[in-house]
Amino acid sequence: MTTELPLVDLHRHLEGSIRTSTVLGIAARTGHELAGRTTPRTALVADRSQSGLLQYLDKVDLAIGVLTGLDDWSRAAGEAVDDAYDDGLDYLELRYCPGIIAHETGLAAEAVIDAVSDAVHERSQRRGLPVGLIGIVVRHLGADSAERQMSTLLSRRDTFCAVDLAGDEANFPAQLFTDAFQKARDAGLHVTIHAGEAAGPESVWDAVRQLGAERIGHGVRAAEDPRLMDWLAEHGVTLEVSLTSNTQTGAAPSFADHQIHQLLNAGVPVSLNTDNPRVSNVRLSQEHRTALTEVGLTPDQLATVAHQSLAAAFTHH
Ligand SMILES: [Zn+2]
Repeated sequence: MTTELPLVDLHRHLEGSIRTSTVLGIAARTGHELAGRTTPRTALVADRSQSGLLQYLDKVDLAIGVLTGLDDWSRAAGEAVDDAYDDGLDYLELRYCPGIIAHETGLAAEAVIDAVSDAVHERSQRRGLPVGLIGIVVRHLGADSAERQMSTLLSRRDTFCAVDLAGDEANFPAQLFTDAFQKARDAGLHVTIHAGEAAGPESVWDAVRQLGAERIGHGVRAAEDPRLMDWLAEHGVTLEVSLTSNTQTGAAPSFADHQIHQLLNAGVPVSLNTDNPRVSNVRLSQEHRTALTEVGLTPDQLATVAHQSLAAAFTHH
């Protein structure tokens, strides 16, 4: 039954999608220290004992510095589309942070954007899988850096359907980034914001009120504020929930007690996403099964979520 539902991933990071085999192959070729570790896989993939957002993000970030050539990013982007196609996806929104990639590799952010967007476009056409790209600005390099990161994204505006804000949510609040995101909205880009993952409901309020978020990355802690859930439901702001990632980062207490239950009961639009397929070691088809077997959604609830995911897509396809 679940195979008939649309399989749509709105929240997937390229950096957390790079195959373990690709990271390790490039590390071996370039002599990166990762290749010499006795258990390199544990540095790249979370296990069941994983807990805490920062440890989780380390596994995303470690791979970035290994891919020091533009060809490496072309390859990773093409493989990310292939992996989505192989899992049976109908539509994918893939997001990445050119500013962090440039910071970690010394490559020019504009060149990374060109390499990734060309590779995704080519592979998307070949596979017949529509893919929208989202450009990420990170919080923890501060407001001035965010302005520069946004200018870089806007210099390649036509390759993106939306922009996103990610990183240290607890220490770098939304008001630092209002100017940057106003520019993105003025340029006609959609806005999604990571919020309510490592900080509470007030961070989600800030994302919608100060940054104009149309969707929220994770947002599970919105379940702590009934008034916020009502507001999100009324305004049709979709939360990009990631069952496995949310339990690994500690944003959700467990599968059975995942906040998706309260969110659905309050009528908040929810989508199901992988976040980081390599780090979380998941595929979207598997997350749909987990929603039924371990989280305890009913088939009707899963169908609602699958259709809400499709409805919240930022591109027409
Ligand atoms: Zn994310």
